[in-house]
This record gives sequence, C-alpha cells and structure tokens, in this order.
Amino acid sequence: MAARLRFACLPEPWTLNDFDFAAQPGVDEKLICDLATLRFLDDASNVLFVGPPGVGKTMLAVALARAAVEAGHRVYFTTAAELAAKCHKAALEGRWKTCMNFFAGPKLLVIDELGYLPLPEDGASALFQVINQRYLKSSTILTTNVGIADWAGAFGDATVAAAMLDRLLHRAAVASIDGPSYRLRGHQNQAEALRAGVNARVS
Ligand code: ADP
Ligand code: MG
Repeated sequence: MAARLRFACLPEPWTLNDFDFAAQPGVDEKLICDLATLRFLDDASNVLFVGPPGVGKTMLAVALARAAVEAGHRVYFTTAAELAAKCHKAALEGRWKTCMNFFAGPKLLVIDELGYLPLPEDGASALFQVINQRYLKSSTILTTNVGIADWAGAFGDATVAAAMLDRLLHRAAVASIDGPSYRLRGHQNQAEALRAGVNARVS
C-alpha cells in the first residue's frame, strides 16, 4: 500500500471524508458516492469533473484516486501539462513507446487541469494517444475548467478534440460543478465580480 501510494504521486492526502458536500451544492453527492464504490474501474469508465477554479475538482479526483489505491489498484496522478512535457521529452530522447506504455499501465490515471494552460500541438496529440490507448481498457479521471462545448477551441485542433471527447465520453460519468469557489469562500463578492468580468470579456 505504501509503495502504491508513493507511485500514485497524489498531490494531497485528501479523502472523500474531507469533502464538505454542504459547502458545494453544485456537486451531486449521490454520483460521487456511487463513484466511490469504484465500480467505474470494472468497466473502464471515465470520470470528467468540469467546472471553474476552486470548486473541488482536484480534491474529488484525488479522493477517488486515493480510494482506488487503498482498494489495491495501480493509480497515477498527473496534470495535463506535466503529461505533455513528459511525452515531449520522451519523444526527443527516443523513449516514446516506453512513455506510452507507462501511461497505459495504471488501472486509474488522473489527468488534472486540462485547459488551464494551452497545450502545444504535440501535447494535444500525446494526450489523445494516451486517452486512445486506455480507451475501453482502463479508467481515466480528467478535470477541466473548459466546458465540453468549448473543447475544440481549447485544443486548437477541433478534430483531435472531437476524437478525444468521443473516446472519453463513450463510457463516462460527467460531473459539472458550477458552485461557489471554496478557495475564495471568504471573498465571495470579489470572486463573483471577477468571474462576471471574465465572462463579460469572453462573450
Ligand atoms: P479545483 O481543482 O476545482 O480548482 P480544488 O479541488 O483544488 O479545486 O479545491 C480548492 C481548495 O478548496 C482545496 O484546498 C480543497 O481542499 C478545498 N475544497 C474545495 N471544495 C471543498 C469542499 N467541498 N470541502 C472541503 N474542501 C474543499
Ligand atoms: Mg484543480
């Protein structure tokens, strides 16, 4: 268990017990409890957490990953940017196949923060290949601040985005969390103003 936990590279010791459902009405508690049974691992289903910053996406992903480690599964946590960087380096060093095998290996792969940083073109393609080779074989949890409808824009390449979504969503639970930011709880008014400003700018 200790070795599996170390291998998983979870960024925080969070468990589902730490998650305050009352503080986040945007989260479907029933869905999360169902995911916590880890049945989604059996049929290689994916989980997508979609929502703005601070709503608990990473926390929920880490908590589910932690539960999977404790249940004896091989788990690995990474961010989209880190995955892209690792694959880029591997390609340069002639280790592409080894790198792909590495990301195919875990029973559960968490890819955090898709969309926060623009992925370079070879990053989007690496991510697609990782998703594609895990498709129907093992589960991936993905967190993103980009609504599914906007993925084409976020990837630069609409075809890659569509192909990736197709595989991810074929068997998936999508949890859209559109509640208040937990990080900014004490600063709700500023946060709302900031978000309204951002929305006004993009629309
Ligand atoms: P996101 O990934 O959506 O940006 P995080 O999961 O990183 O958000 O959560 C931001 C911070 O707020 C973390 O410290 C997390 O532990 C805390 N947090 C968020 N939602 C909750 C919640 N419902 N209960 C307890 N802590 C929370
Ligand atoms: Mg996060």
